[in-house]
Amino acid sequence: MKKTLVTLMCTLLAFLLCSCSYIPLEVPTPDYNGELIVHFIDVGQGDSILLESQNEFMLIDAGEAEYGSTVCRYLENNDVKTLSYVVATHPHSDHCGGLTEVINSFECENFITVETDQQTKTWLNVLYAVKNNNVNYIDAKVGTTYTLGNSSFQIMGPHSNYYEDYNNYSVVIKATCGKNTFLFTGDAEILSENEMLDYTLDLSSDVLKVGHHGSSTSSSYKFLSAVSPQYAVISCAEHNDYGHPHNEVVSRLNNMGISTYRTDKHGTVVATSDGNNIEFYCDNSHIPPIDPKTLSYLGNKNSKKFHLSTCSGAMDINKYNLVRFSSREEALSKGYSPCKACNP
Ligand SMILES: [Zn+2]
Ligand SMILES: [Zn+2]
Repeated sequence: MKKTLVTLMCTLLAFLLCSCSYIPLEVPTPDYNGELIVHFIDVGQGDSILLESQNEFMLIDAGEAEYGSTVCRYLENNDVKTLSYVVATHPHSDHCGGLTEVINSFECENFITVETDQQTKTWLNVLYAVKNNNVNYIDAKVGTTYTLGNSSFQIMGPHSNYYEDYNNYSVVIKATCGKNTFLFTGDAEILSENEMLDYTLDLSSDVLKVGHHGSSTSSSYKFLSAVSPQYAVISCAEHNDYGHPHNEVVSRLNNMGISTYRTDKHGTVVATSDGNNIEFYCDNSHIPPIDPKTLSYLGNKNSKKFHLSTCSGAMDINKYNLVRFSSREEALSKGYSPCKACNP
């Protein structure tokens, strides 16, 4: 009798543990050579991006310190044992905070950053972890190229030695896999964007990690035109204190016909490249990317309201209640009424 009770309790405990544990995002593993997988990990208001190519890994930022364990768990779930490169784009806590835990938990070969006079405890902890774990320290130099599996990445910025705002120190990286390219700009603002525009390096990329969480202090029209991405990814938290992403940037992306993924709406976003094509996967796969060309109106079967795809009301629609319309007329003819907030 006792034995049965113990078995029952064990089963119950196992069930509880299973149901609470993290379920990794199901991304098909390509078995051909030449692939690059880019994971935009959902770390709330912050950045954390994992790149993998032929079982070699690079991590760009790891969110706030409290997200360190989230990132570590994500790396474990993706079978990361060694990080060939760890990049701290700049010393703000929403980028570097979680790195201390990552560097103390995984074998890291190289640490790339730009030297600043930042003295916060969070940043000093990162530098201490780098030193303590004998990680090779690399001062980012524009133009330098590194390999990752059979992909490569190049340092595109920053160009100056001194900035007033730490955001502009952001290490900007362009990754290349065959014909596909990705640009990661950290929190680089318009000042640094302009410096990159003045330089001869080719900024054009298929995917842009939008600068500074979609803040209007980044992503000038000129910069977006030069990068001219097909896809954009914004990393930010829902209802964050800064109002990121700012409307100007969202509408700029929309007007340029760039499909946008957002970690606040789509959760962790994963892009895979086979060197020719890029495919996207995300946690909240029922929410389509914000694509100004194909996605204009979303209805809620429950409330019988319809919204613009960019409206926050549309993002909250449960996947079972979600219905798409190709035009305003179609939504109206099916008995849906327009949302008062977004006025579709
Ligand atoms: Zn910053
Ligand atoms: Zn930031």
